[in-house]
Amino acid sequence: MWAHGMMHFGLGILPAALKPALRVGPAAARAGGVMRASVESLGRPDVVVVGGGFGGLYTALRLANLGWEEAEPPRVTLVDRSDRFVFLPMLYEVTTGQASCWEVAPRFEELLAGSGVEFVQGEAISLDAEAQLLSVRRPEEATAGEGGAANSSGTTAGGPLALPYDAAVLAPGAVPSFGGVKGAAEHALPFYSLDDALALRETLLPLSRAPAGAKISVAVIGGSFVGAGAGSQRVCCWQQPRTERYLSVDGLPHVHCLGDAACSADSKGPAPPSTAQAAMQQADYAAWNTRAALLGSPPLPFRYTNLGEMLSLGGEDGAVSALAGLVQLRGPLASLSRKAVYAARMPTPAQAARVGASWALDAALGAAALVARGAGGAAGK
Ligand SMILES: Cc1cc2nc3c(=O)[nH]c(=O)nc-3n(C[C@H](O)[C@H](O)[C@H](O)COP(=O)(O)OP(=O)(O)OC[C@H]3O[C@@H](n4cnc5c(N)ncnc54)[C@H](O)[C@@H]3O)c2cc1C
Repeated sequence: MWAHGMMHFGLGILPAALKPALRVGPAAARAGGVMRASVESLGRPDVVVVGGGFGGLYTALRLANLGWEEAEPPRVTLVDRSDRFVFLPMLYEVTTGQASCWEVAPRFEELLAGSGVEFVQGEAISLDAEAQLLSVRRPEEATAGEGGAANSSGTTAGGPLALPYDAAVLAPGAVPSFGGVKGAAEHALPFYSLDDALALRETLLPLSRAPAGAKISVAVIGGSFVGAGAGSQRVCCWQQPRTERYLSVDGLPHVHCLGDAACSADSKGPAPPSTAQAAMQQADYAAWNTRAALLGSPPLPFRYTNLGEMLSLGGEDGAVSALAGLVQLRGPLASLSRKAVYAARMPTPAQAARVGASWALDAALGAAALVARGAGGAAGK
């Protein structure tokens, strides 16, 4: 429930009374004097998606691929404060140099080329559910003066961009936190973003050059996927959109929320875990139920299925547990399987093909080096 039908992202404004009635119809008709991102979509419904992570990006791409029967397909606009999607389960490999930035954190511009999804870089600052407008602070806003003129793309340089919508999807993820641990913010490194991974790499690199036998201590705090200085936290529940089993926000059937940011329940009750796996599963439902809200067809209740777990244990070591524990792998084979599954789960087929080819080449070169070492060792005996 939201004050004046308004949700604020990360501003800590308490939600209060709900304005339930949503007007349906092309948002463009209501845009009035608001400067919009483009005029191409007049007559088409608008869907805005906040957050280009596992929840938001996969929902946007799914929406762009769904069939729309006789209806006009919507214009899908993805908003993210960053210019890159980050495949977080592989962030560790960026730090160790086992994966490159383009593999783990491709730019949205490249990922979304030809997908039918438009990308707006900026920070969503509020969502007015009554006026059906999403306000976005663009990166250039910080540098531009007040009252900037509209540029060729129809945005204003001086104030937040207002995106009208017929349906909205919220997937801004979790807020990294040091959990109130004294001194952690000053002395520990968080591990949640690409910048964090690169900063950690810079910190660890000199240590790796220490003379053999030197004592090096690195404390890793947190035992979850995020196993490092900063745990992640869902924003406190009162700030979180409370969703029901169709992933729509309570009382707002045209607004869906998923991923780490959602306070959701699946159709059997318990909340799904805060994992990429759960967010990707929710994305299918969020896309389908957004379509249902626009077409007036029945939504599908979300049901989480645990597909198993995959972990990197450093170097070429890994662990995989799948099919309710029936499949258990350890060692290099688990590490290879994990990479193969992650390559297949990249957001677009083109990225999956590029990353898959690159990792297959790495694996082949690694195997060849092992064979050569083995042959060299045998010859030396
Ligand atoms: C280091 C690490 C390793 C992990 N490993 C695993 C793993 O091995 N397996 C697994 O299943 N899960 C793993 N997880 C958890 C998993 O990545 C998350 O559960 C998943 O990313 C949640 O998806 P999401 O879309 O909700 O959020 P995210 O993927 O975090 O995406 C949120 C997006 O929203 C954007 N955003 C936030 N606020 C705004 C705003 N106001 N305006 C515009 N954009 C905004 C962010 O820039 C970001 O791109 C890991 C997490 C971390 C941090």
